[in-house]
Amino acid sequence: RSFRDMKFPKSLLTALKKKGIRKPSPIQTQGIPVVLSGRDMIGIAFTGSGKTLVFVLPLIMFCLEQEKKMPFSKGEGPYGLVVCPSRELARQTFQVMTYYSKCLEASGLPGLRFALCIGGIPAKDTLDVLRKGCHAVIATPGRLMDMLNKKMLHLHICRYLCLDEADRMIDMGFEEDVRTIFSYFKGQRQTLLFSATMPKKIQNFARSALVCPVTVNV
Ligand code: AMP
Repeated sequence: RSFRDMKFPKSLLTALKKKGIRKPSPIQTQGIPVVLSGRDMIGIAFTGSGKTLVFVLPLIMFCLEQEKKMPFSKGEGPYGLVVCPSRELARQTFQVMTYYSKCLEASGLPGLRFALCIGGIPAKDTLDVLRKGCHAVIATPGRLMDMLNKKMLHLHICRYLCLDEADRMIDMGFEEDVRTIFSYFKGQRQTLLFSATMPKKIQNFARSALVCPVTVNV
């Protein structure tokens, strides 16, 4: 299976090639079609497996689809949320998302806006992007909770949630926060959970948070 089979736009294939990515890795081969189908997914994968693109590429396609249906107006969004255990990982994910969406924009597709919602940066910077409207938010749990509680950020039209490195998040004591974040979602959502390990604790957590998930273990 190739990236072409996954029905991505040509400009995305070119953007991948520019990064030296020609063939999908095992987690991408198995995971991307599941995510594109709209199902919940548990991805058991380490850093270096190529897991980031499993949730980033379908999220970008989903945002483009939403944008095509109805270009959003000021202050709207996000349609997607990615939660990471560390600021560093959130920044990296934000950069990857920005890179691919810019490549698509250069080929004539609608531009997408993403907000980075992490500690260590002024909340005002995040708020400025949210006020303009953004398609997706990449966050760490602490700052995200803060902005949700202060009603600076709303998730009522958010339909896509990815928890990256969920085992690290739980180990760091963020389980309650993550559960609170779930409660801000309204309506249906697609939930993806990535974890390097699957101890009982994460399994139980996943069982309560995901609906009939497909497990991809490579
Ligand atoms: P990740 O596991 O998502 O953190 O990705 C680790 C690294 O592998 C990143 O630098 C990616 O750019 C790279 N990468 C991701 N997918 C592929 C692929 N299919 N082929 C070659 N490199 C890849």
